[in-house]
Amino acid sequence: MSSSETSEYILSIDQGTTSTRAVVFDHTGQILASAQKEHTQHFPQAGWVEHDAVEIWQNTQEMISGALTEGGVTPEQIKALGITNQRETTVVWDRATGEPIHRALVWQDTRTQAIIDELAADGGTERFKERAGLPLATYFSGPKIRWVLDQVQGARERAEAGELLFGTMDTWLVWNLTGGTEGGVHITDVTNASRTLLMNIDTLDWNPEICAAIGVPEAVLPQIRSSSEVYAECAESSGIPGVPIAGILGDQHAATVGQACFEPGQGKNTYGTGNFMLINTGHEPVHNDQGLLTTLAYKFGAQPPVYALEGSIAVTGSLIQWLRDNLGLISSAAESEDRAENVKDHGGAYIVPAFSGLFAPYWRPEARGVIVGLTRYVTADHLCRAALESVAFQSAEVVEAMNASAPEDLTELKVDGGMVVNETLMQFQADLLGVDVVRPEVIETTALGAAYAAGLATGYWASTDELTSNWREGRRWRPTMDQDARSHRLTEWRKAVERSFNWVD
Ligand code: ADP
Repeated sequence: MSSSETSEYILSIDQGTTSTRAVVFDHTGQILASAQKEHTQHFPQAGWVEHDAVEIWQNTQEMISGALTEGGVTPEQIKALGITNQRETTVVWDRATGEPIHRALVWQDTRTQAIIDELAADGGTERFKERAGLPLATYFSGPKIRWVLDQVQGARERAEAGELLFGTMDTWLVWNLTGGTEGGVHITDVTNASRTLLMNIDTLDWNPEICAAIGVPEAVLPQIRSSSEVYAECAESSGIPGVPIAGILGDQHAATVGQACFEPGQGKNTYGTGNFMLINTGHEPVHNDQGLLTTLAYKFGAQPPVYALEGSIAVTGSLIQWLRDNLGLISSAAESEDRAENVKDHGGAYIVPAFSGLFAPYWRPEARGVIVGLTRYVTADHLCRAALESVAFQSAEVVEAMNASAPEDLTELKVDGGMVVNETLMQFQADLLGVDVVRPEVIETTALGAAYAAGLATGYWASTDELTSNWREGRRWRPTMDQDARSHRLTEWRKAVERSFNWVD
């Protein structure tokens, strides 16, 4: 027998905004095998973004079998399964048939603005912030559930009668993996629940008053569980029967775990479809007036919860997709770097990608994207550079908000996500921040974090200390820009951001 036939592994499913991955990890946290597939992005109207939850479930099954085949691993060798997912994306389905009643409303979708305005008219956008940790914004799931129940004929009555189920992608996948209409388990974890606006951030229970105010019947909501415990076993129909599902974390929380940020003050910045910086704040929720969200970092089994402050940016990697798909300036995301390297600087151009309004630190739902500083000199190469720079500028503003909220300034930035292979972007990020930017050896930290949660629950890993010792530095970028140049660029960026305000009445 070869060693791969005798060894045990942890399988992780990373159901992201752009794609679904299945990754097999070994005991050292290294990747044995993985499979990945993009799913269709539907844009039915300006501001609307939808996914087909059935397509995502099919891709998940395909990727599980793809990763196992690639690694030569049998389901019996999988000690546990962890799931991590794009957060807030909302699907409502029929309990009896397993069919979604509407396409999933993606986190970037802004169609709930009228609901937000109506709710904010009575108490402002901070109305639930003390209890839920979040401002009222189109980003979160609760108002998306309300929209679906309002718009699909008969849905509200059926929801109240217990015939419909709501889930973020973790919940949808667990329900299907555990048998779906044949006894599927309807659960979520505290990190995903903390993004609905419906959960009390102190008690970690659904809050009946907020649910009633937003218009979500509690009968549709899943049970809230910790991020690391054995929830259920996969059913025969899943392709991996008997494998325990033992970890669930929203993607940003999973990356926090995957980067081993287990101590207060430790944090990470993930560069994916959007950018999300999370800093561990310990066992108490910390409220913030710098535009940062109060959220859960993770909760391992019966241990006390660990909280985080989060700076969320809606559009970063998706701007690169937009250059590729909508403008045709590049044929692949990687080409953005080649084009940016063709020119020595941005040529005066700034792009503010406020496609879904602006999230942290501004929270301006009415903002829309702008390109400023154009002259005849500016080329497509300059625009590619400006697009990459916009990613770093937005994160620099979040770091500033974090520094203003924390006892000490950040001394280096741990990064991960699909964009951190881009050297031009990472160097510019170090330049703008004036601190080192550090990438770990394994950049699939999101998938790794979910694997860690599942492995801790099943004794595959003994403790967080063991996980911390798995973290190894892969690459480091040091700042080269002087302070004057940095301030000048940031001042120009802020002028550009102001141009994006007040576009929608
Ligand atoms: P998610 O988990 O949100 O689906 P990923 O972490 O997989 O996202 O990152 C995918 C994003 O990264 C895409 O939006 C893509 O445009 C961007 N991306 C991937 N490779 C590069 C690259 N070399 N340069 C710039 N952006 C990239």
